[in-house]
Amino acid sequence: MKRYLLTPGPVTIPPEIALKEALPIFHHRTDEFAMIYKNIAKGLKYVFQTENEVYVLAASGTGAMEMAVANLLSMGDKIIVASCGNFGDRWAEIARGYGIEVISASVRWGKTIKPAEVERALKENPDVKAVYTTFTETSTGVANDIKAIGGIVSKTNAVLVVDAISGLVGQEFRTDEWKVDAVISASQKGFMLAPGLAFITLNGKAWELVDASKIPKFYFDIKKYKKFYAAGETPFTPPLTLITALQESVRLIEERGLKNIWNDCKLLAKATRAAMKALGLELFSEVPCEIVTSASVPVDIGVKIVKTLREKYGVSIAGGQGDLKGRIIRFAHLGCIGKADLLAGFTCLEMVLIELGVKIKKGKAAAAVEEILLRT
Ligand code: PMP
Repeated sequence: MKRYLLTPGPVTIPPEIALKEALPIFHHRTDEFAMIYKNIAKGLKYVFQTENEVYVLAASGTGAMEMAVANLLSMGDKIIVASCGNFGDRWAEIARGYGIEVISASVRWGKTIKPAEVERALKENPDVKAVYTTFTETSTGVANDIKAIGGIVSKTNAVLVVDAISGLVGQEFRTDEWKVDAVISASQKGFMLAPGLAFITLNGKAWELVDASKIPKFYFDIKKYKKFYAAGETPFTPPLTLITALQESVRLIEERGLKNIWNDCKLLAKATRAAMKALGLELFSEVPCEIVTSASVPVDIGVKIVKTLREKYGVSIAGGQGDLKGRIIRFAHLGCIGKADLLAGFTCLEMVLIELGVKIKKGKAAAAVEEILLRT
């Protein structure tokens, strides 16, 4: 059975990228590797919309999150965490693990971060070293106004650190223009690669914190990555197959153009929201992001919807995480997910809902998707 991967990461790997992952391995202390790495370095600046260096490390996204905590802070430091979901909460968990004091500017899952709350927390705690937040909160499908938060944090001594793991590439994000001091991301979402690579970029303000950091580290010591970067190298053996594929990923993103990708995701997001409503499902997020859409589902069938869809039709969507398990479904529209995937996915989702006893008329979801797509 053909499989449709409509989850917010990992996403389907386009054939051009998958083929690169299959190329023979080679040695990494070579001119061949340096050339590839330097090419990637240039492309990543475009993807992150920054003039600063972007480092690549072998880790899942959480590895880059940990790097952004362990390199910027010292035990006993105070930070603000502005979370609106599972991944925002992870910032606080990592920080507490390192003995950092966490002040919350968080909101209920499903809501969006209030920039005014961040401003208030900063005023009340002028000694905080940094504000940690999330761009697109994958667990709830919420987008946060990073531009507004960047404007606020940049007027203070604190550094703004943003998890753009799921939103980078798919939704407009401008590191330098929005005054974001540190950004992290990972390979298995907008980059359309297999999981395994993480990215981190810092500006001068964030580097000042690195110089003051007293947390012991070795593999995750960002100074090592910076030192090797200039020579087109990584400090440790890089996952060569993923790096070769990353070169292709960045090339494809540059060829398609970020603005076009942002617009395409926006259109698919609009069609997805319309289809959810047509199925009688209420959108879960206060400010929906453009890479995944979440909707509330009846709790008695919440888990079954995702399982039946995958097992009977080969369509994978995501369910809820943590307390949201069985309460929401999440339908992704990033990477190389296209219009036809949406039609297939929603038609199958509609059939599953009918099979599970939800009273809806056949053809509503596809009609809603068509309505949006035909208008553009
Ligand atoms: N943050 C966000 C916003 C994410 O979407 C994810 C992955 N779903 C993570 C953090 C964690 O990344 P990983 O699973 O690659 O460690």
